[in-house]
This record gives sequence, structure tokens and C-alpha cells, in this order.
Amino acid sequence: MRRKLIAGNWKMNGSLAGNATLLDGIRVGAAGLKAELAVCVPAPYLAQVQAALSGSSVAWGAQDLSVHESGAYTGEVSAAMFKDFGSRYVIVGHSERRSYHGENDELIAQKAARELASGLVPIVCLGETLAEREAGSTDKVVIRQLKPVLDAVGTQMAGIVVAYEPVWAIGTGKTATPEMAQQVHELIRGCLAQGDASAATGVRILYGGSMKPDNAKELLAMADIDGGLIGGASLKSADFLAIAQAA
Ligand code: PEP
Repeated sequence: MRRKLIAGNWKMNGSLAGNATLLDGIRVGAAGLKAELAVCVPAPYLAQVQAALSGSSVAWGAQDLSVHESGAYTGEVSAAMFKDFGSRYVIVGHSERRSYHGENDELIAQKAARELASGLVPIVCLGETLAEREAGSTDKVVIRQLKPVLDAVGTQMAGIVVAYEPVWAIGTGKTATPEMAQQVHELIRGCLAQGDASAATGVRILYGGSMKPDNAKELLAMADIDGGLIGGASLKSADFLAIAQAA
């Protein structure tokens, strides 16, 4: 039985004062929830998040990491640094990293492997653009993005989380229907199973893309939707917790 995971992606949002209110709300509201909760925050706030959430059931982490272990990589943050601040998860391959920072499938796969080697859990994002969906290439794109990750992580596949995030649904208010999302999640599970059938049944596959309190229940009811990666709605504790309650 896969425990549902509701992970917030704060993106480049937050302030010390605003975070304090948000984290307090999440910490209090998380008690007794069936789903696991996590927040992936901008790196400078990790110390604050660690102090606010330590001892609670809520996990935390970041939104990207360096593919390198350490050294002369100005501006980069390593997996070990995220571990130092108690992180459990780091997102890799978010479509905003792919499109604004030129990250390709191979680099993302190496980042996922770097995380696993450091004891972190990668949340690996995949998903097609609107043009790719309209061209009928969703399945091909998702498999192309996933395969290098599976090659790079090898026998550690059970340690990853996958997030299917159709690019056209991120921050747009457009959501994949539960059936559309389930079809891709099933495809992803099948692809994982080709590597290791028993591990594939345990890997959590999250849906991301305008998940909100009013559409979460239907999405999270689908057989292969094991949680959500939540952008905008993770910035208000009431919305984030309402999604978690639907899980
Ligand atoms: C995201 O950025 O991962 C995301 C799913 O954003 P939103 O929920 O705002 O669409």
C-alpha cells in the first residue's frame, strides 16, 4: 500500500515573516493526517523550515540541486548541504528548470542519482508540453524523460518519487482530467515495472498541475495517483491542508 504524499513546491516565493505563518499552519494542521506532507522550499529558508518543522510529521527539502558533489561550482548547492539541514526530498527536472535553465533528460537523471547516493529522495518531474500533447506524443515524451532516470538510478529505483506534471497544467488553472492523468501514471508504472516489477508497485507517482482543494479528491482517487506536487496552492496552509485531507 503506497502512502499518499502531498508535497508543496514553493518555487521562488516566501519571506521569513510569511513562511513563519505558513509553516505554523501546516505544522498544526498536519497532525493526524493519513497522507505524508512535505514542503520543498527555496534553499535560504531551509534553516527556518528545519527549526519550524523538526519534531512534526512534515518533511522538507528543496527544488533543485547540483549534479556535482562539491568544489568550484559557484552558485550551486550540493546534496550534502541539503542533508545538513535535515532535508528528505529534492525536486529534480521541474519543467521550469528544463525550460528556463536548459536542463536535459541526462542531467536530470544524474541529479536524481546524486541524490540517492546522498540519502535524499528525488522527486523526478516529467511531463509533456501542450504542443506535444496536441501532436499525440505525450507517451513518447514521458518515456523519453523517464528512461535515462531509470538507467542512472539502476537498482535504487525504489528510492525515487516520480511526479507527472503536464506543462500546460502548471500554474495555468487547467488540470488534466483524472482519467487523462491516470492513463499517463499507468504508463509510467508500466515503464518502472520493466526495470523492476516488484519495486514499481511501491514507487509513488504524484500528479502536479493546478491541483487544488476542489479537484484533488477526484485526482487522488485514481489507482496510480499516489499524491500531488502542489505549486500555487501550497502557499496557503488552508488550501495545502485541504488537499492533504482529500488524500
Ligand atoms: C508545480 O510547479 O510543480 C505545480 C504543480 O504548480 P501549480 O500547482 O501552481 O500548477
